[in-house]
Amino acid sequence: VAGLAAESSKKLDVLLGGLLLPGFDEQSCASRYQSVYYRKNMTRSPTPYLIDQLRRQEALQRRCGPGTDAYRRASDRLKSGVKGVDTVDGCSYLVLLSYRGLGNRILAAASAFLYAMLTGRVLLVDRGKTMGDLFCEPFPGTTWLLPLDFPLQGYRDLGEDAAESYGNVTLRNETGGSSEHRFVYMHLDHAASVENKLAYCDDHRQFLHRVQWVVMRTDGYIAPILFLNPAYQQELHRMFPRKDSVFYIVSRYLLHPTNDVWGMVTRFYDSYLKSADERLGIQIRVFVKDDKPVQHILDQILACTSQERLLPGVLPSAGGAPPPPAGARSKAVLVTGLDGWYHDSIREMYWRSASANGEVVSVHQPSREEHQRMFHRMQDMKALAEMYLLSMTDKIVTSGWSTFGYVGTALGGLTPYIMIKPEDEEVPDPPCRRAMSMEPCAQGPPYFECTRKEVDKLLDTGNLVPHVRACEDMSWGLKLI
Ligand code: GDP
Repeated sequence: VAGLAAESSKKLDVLLGGLLLPGFDEQSCASRYQSVYYRKNMTRSPTPYLIDQLRRQEALQRRCGPGTDAYRRASDRLKSGVKGVDTVDGCSYLVLLSYRGLGNRILAAASAFLYAMLTGRVLLVDRGKTMGDLFCEPFPGTTWLLPLDFPLQGYRDLGEDAAESYGNVTLRNETGGSSEHRFVYMHLDHAASVENKLAYCDDHRQFLHRVQWVVMRTDGYIAPILFLNPAYQQELHRMFPRKDSVFYIVSRYLLHPTNDVWGMVTRFYDSYLKSADERLGIQIRVFVKDDKPVQHILDQILACTSQERLLPGVLPSAGGAPPPPAGARSKAVLVTGLDGWYHDSIREMYWRSASANGEVVSVHQPSREEHQRMFHRMQDMKALAEMYLLSMTDKIVTSGWSTFGYVGTALGGLTPYIMIKPEDEEVPDPPCRRAMSMEPCAQGPPYFECTRKEVDKLLDTGNLVPHVRACEDMSWGLKLI
């Protein structure tokens, strides 16, 4: 950092307006204080109130986290089956299970952190096979990783049907003032049952605040849904007066890639993206069988970049046009995707023919993994590095429905051009759409209102509060704007 800092004539605010604390060991996690040199200035600032709440959460994590007497007592209670909330230490916990692809897991981590802050719980994340290889510790003086000796047997296998699921506890009416639970499992998968989604509406009149241990499983971003619960609205408004940048701010606080991943990010950036006049990200996620390349997706990408003037057209190759003069504007295109064919096709187009406006277009793809492999250490590291690289571009085109794209976009504070997921192998019209905000989409929201909980009637929850709307790429999803 010192070297970089000396190079930079501008004094940059490495602590991001108070979001980050000084004093962490810089060697063990270079990205925490270095990322400011690679990213654009923050376009949204944290409020003093949010910063106060972060400091409170850090103090809670330290006071109750792994290694403390309070944690030992809490895990002993869980192990021996003691029910109800503990009144001695005043520590309660939210355990986040590791679930699905990396984009899903990152959205889940940011969401769970927000939920932990709202409900005064200590956040502990199940490391799965890779979490510790991907991210540095976010909280000073403690760990957010769930200890390996966590005493709840079979917790990773908890599912919607578990006796302890919020839905089943509610169906059994074990929610009254005197009900006590050893733990409760929140199943917030996008396709969870209505009864389980009632957990989104839990408040002080309900029972979760009387449960010391809550285990959560979600595959996506739930922040927009938390804004629908009247119990949280005021607090969320104080933390985030601007609703369009919740993930952006939370992720800059919480998520810092480990040195191994950060090395991959910075080496690629410095080699292929840094010196260009402009950077365009194209994130390609094709939801087809076998992840094989398909022509209509390439057509869609080119239709989108042409419609939105993100990439120049090319001159007919037989025209004999002179090459562009030296010093022409350069554009670096970062392509990410499991397959390399799209990248190769676009690159070949700009090799065989001159660009119509003289721009020099270079095209780069960090990896081509071909198939998705869950919880594979190297693939997860590459995927994370690529999400960060996408976030360092100036403009971005993403694939609808993809949490990978949501993360790349929102990390960078970029408002994406989203390619709508094609139906019937045809290029949709329009091929892409400028998003309303940088925020990720919550893909499986409830369709009832917390005040009425009329679960057998479907309600358009994209109309309830002004800053939560239907997503651009998924009409039944919700996003913050
Ligand atoms: P989603 O399925 O698009 O919502 O995104 P996820 O990140 O949740 O899951 C897809 C997984 O497939 C990623 O975590 C990666 O393991 C892999 N993957 C998909 N696209 C890419 C890519 O462009 N680059 C790399 N390295 N991996 C990818």
